[in-house]
Amino acid sequence: MSQPAPPRVIAIDGPAGAGKSSVSAALAARLGFTRLDTGALYRAIGLAALRAGVRAEEGEALRALLADLRVELDGAEVLLDGVAEGDALRRPEVSAAASDFARLPSVRAKLLDLQRAIGAAQACVVDGRDIGTVVFPDAPLKIYLTASARARAERRLLELAAKGMAQPLDEVQREIEARDAQDASRPIAPLRRAEDAVLVDATALGLEEVVARCCGLARGVFGG
Ligand code: C5P
Repeated sequence: MSQPAPPRVIAIDGPAGAGKSSVSAALAARLGFTRLDTGALYRAIGLAALRAGVRAEEGEALRALLADLRVELDGAEVLLDGVAEGDALRRPEVSAAASDFARLPSVRAKLLDLQRAIGAAQACVVDGRDIGTVVFPDAPLKIYLTASARARAERRLLELAAKGMAQPLDEVQREIEARDAQDASRPIAPLRRAEDAVLVDATALGLEEVVARCCGLARGVFGG
């Protein structure tokens, strides 16, 4: 029996604040690929759980929440029960809730098929934590994008400030370090560089340099 063709997926994994979102969006636009921000899917579940007052543990309340919840994509936008939540998904408490719920098997299972279906249907740039290791282990190009904790906190601070959610730099750094520690230490689909992922350290690079480097890698793999 013939093997299914490998997905036309560029997997971009890495810790919080490394610039995965900006790089993925720019890369997808340049290559004409769809962009799938998988963090937004986990954020949507975190937001829904916060609103419903459901705790981050497996149980009847979570089972009922997940059974009723519709998480979909409209272009690059994630819809939660049909509504685009926009900046509400970016709030610091939603980041923390996303990481808390992302540890749970039932949450990861709910999102896995959706991610794979999107990646199978079109050429995609997919960013997250476990894209190259679990969701698309056959992706022809995997990038692990990282930067020093300070550089990542500075980047996140600017993003938050632009959305009117300013916070002290040290607090932002503490939050992303705590989230990375939780994401890297969970038993299922932890944050980890796939063995065949290309490491890109963005500490001393601007967005354009990172995008140019990733674009060069993509053209090497996909042509064009
Ligand atoms: O990438 P972003 O910061 O939006 O992700 C929010 C949280 O969602 C992460 O801290 C992580 O816990 C979870 N996540 C995940 N697997 C992914 C993408 C995100 O566990 N593929």
